[in-house]
Amino acid sequence: MGDLERIKDKLQASGFKLTPQRRSVVSVILNSSGKILSAEEIFVQVRQVSPEIGLATVYRTLDILSNLSVLEKLFLTDDGVARYNINYQQNGLFIEFICLSCGKRIELAKELLSDLDAVIKKDSAFAVKSVRTHIEGLCEACQKQGKNVIDY
Ligand SMILES: [Zn+2]
Repeated sequence: MGDLERIKDKLQASGFKLTPQRRSVVSVILNSSGKILSAEEIFVQVRQVSPEIGLATVYRTLDILSNLSVLEKLFLTDDGVARYNINYQQNGLFIEFICLSCGKRIELAKELLSDLDAVIKKDSAFAVKSVRTHIEGLCEACQKQGKNVIDY
């Protein structure tokens, strides 16, 4: 099943339709080639295919999709601006590295989290469903180019 189909099913299961405007928002995020976009950046791109869409609609759509865990809302830098990422995995162990300069995401070995998972399960009464985390920094390519996180 394609990402768009999966997202459509998820919306429908919660009583939402994948309207053309919502579809445009999702498509921009799916096609962002690894770059994690803010609402305003998404808005600028969505306007190219759906000129009638307003920023408020983009924000509302992002809220709905975040609440349904279709998207994850991230605060990557100290600018306080939320950025949105497709939430590919909601169960189990998930750890990724996010480059604060180019926005590249790299999934890391789940084994990095298995000790943490085991300790939480052993030492707490929580019923752990998932362990998700991300590590922020500069990827190898950006370090070589002397980039800074401010460039993001
Ligand atoms: Zn990078």
